Formats: sequence, C-alpha cells, structure tokens
Amino acid sequence: MNLTSLKFLGNLRRENNQFAVIGLGRFGRAVCSSLHKMGYEVLGTDIDEKLVTQALTQKIASHAIQLDSTEPEALKEAGIFEMDTVIVAIGNYLQESIITTLNVKEAGVKNVIAKASSEIHGKLLKRVGADRVVFPEHEAGCALAETLTKPAILDRFELDPENSIVEVLVPKEFHDKTLADLNLRSRYGISILAVCSGEKFMTNPAPGQKLKEGSIMIVIGGNKDIEKLPI
Ligand code: ATP
Repeated sequence: MNLTSLKFLGNLRRENNQFAVIGLGRFGRAVCSSLHKMGYEVLGTDIDEKLVTQALTQKIASHAIQLDSTEPEALKEAGIFEMDTVIVAIGNYLQESIITTLNVKEAGVKNVIAKASSEIHGKLLKRVGADRVVFPEHEAGCALAETLTKPAILDRFELDPENSIVEVLVPKEFHDKTLADLNLRSRYGISILAVCSGEKFMTNPAPGQKLKEGSIMIVIGGNKDIEKLPI
C-alpha cells in the first residue's frame, strides 16, 4: 500500500484554493513551490525583482509580482486582498512583517499565516491580527525530535498548540482488537476518526471494527494524550 497516495490529512486541508506568499526567501519559496506542486493557485511576491524573476523561471508559483508589501495600494492592485490565504514569509524584517500582516488583515483577508523569527515577533504578529503564527525553525526541530522518537506518527494536523489530529500506525498492542475492546476514549482520552481498510479510509468506524497492526488510524485528541499511546 502506498501511504502517501492516501493523503487523508492532506485532503482535509483542501478547502482553500488561492494563496499568496509574501516574501520569497527560503521559507517563502518552499511554501510557494509545495503549494504549486500540489496544484494550487499561488501568487508569489517580493520586493526584490531578482527573486520574483527566479520564482517565474523556476516555476515555483502560478504568478509572481514585485511589490512592497508595506504599501496597501500595491497589495490591492496585485489582488492579494482577494486571496483565501496569505502567507507573510518575512522573518528577518520585523517592521515589514508587522506592517504587511496588518495590511492584509485590515483589508479583510480571512486566513493570514505569518512567519515569526522570535517569541516577541510572534506576539506582535498575533496583536496585529495574524490568524496563525509559525516558527519554522523551532517547529522543524520539534518535528525532527518527534519523528526520531515516534516513527509511527506519519502526519500531524495541529488544531491548536494543545490538540492535534494525527495519522498513526496501529501499534502491535492494538492488533486484532476492536475499538470497543480498546476503549480508547476512556483509557487515553482520544478518539479514532477513521481507520484504513485496504486502500480506503473508513470514517466513523463502528465499535466492532478490528484494528490491524501496521495499518493506519486517524486519531484526534490532546497532544499529551496522544503521547501516551503505545506507539
Ligand atoms: P529564510 O530565507 O532564511 O527562510 P526568511 O524566510 O525569514 O528567511 P527573510 O530574510 O525574512 O526570509 O526575507 C523574506 C523575503 O521578504 C526577502 O526575500 C525580502 O526581499 C522580502 N521582503 C522584505 N521586505 C519586503 C517588503 N516590504 N515587501 C515585499 N517583500 C519583502
């Protein structure tokens, strides 16, 4: 079975279609090209003309425009305010990052994700309205530690800092047991949203559903409770 082809959590995220990435540094370029490869419409922008040209020649975005994102008029003209999601990928220029985030939120963009390079930067971004603040270096470090110690967790969708939905391999302790036998809600405080049966996911599995070691289950719960699973 090809696990990546199942893309269960990926499909859950497919509700947004149009993205703008402001700032084409290493982080911004990675966001752009990943979204573009997944088939989404992505507009990449940067104040630096060279990076814009590079984004176009390397085909990491559907469109790329040179602009100064601290100028609301420039953002408006580029159509950024009509995007479903805007990613402010300006980590090293505090003032520009804050003003840009303020500009897009004030213009009514629903989903604004901003990159922070320090804790205080993150707090400021929240204050000006960022819907989500990411700390890529910190998060990558934590994720690496987790995959080194918890290889059974295949994917994670953070609902908030305390709660997640995870795609996880069924441990041998759960093999051939039904959900009713396992009683995971009271034992671990988690719920199983779906189990993988063959090539397909079965959502809302019945209490009589048996689990198979090495197959995939989708679990929702507090991070601390998920940690307690024997995986
Ligand atoms: P890394 O490249 O290490 O991932 P980063 O993603 O934090 O770092 P920065 O060094 O913060 O990247 O730069 C992001 C990009 O933002 C740069 O390419 C820079 O030219 C661009 N940028 C800075 N100010 C503005 C602005 N006012 N308008 C548009 N783009 C800007």
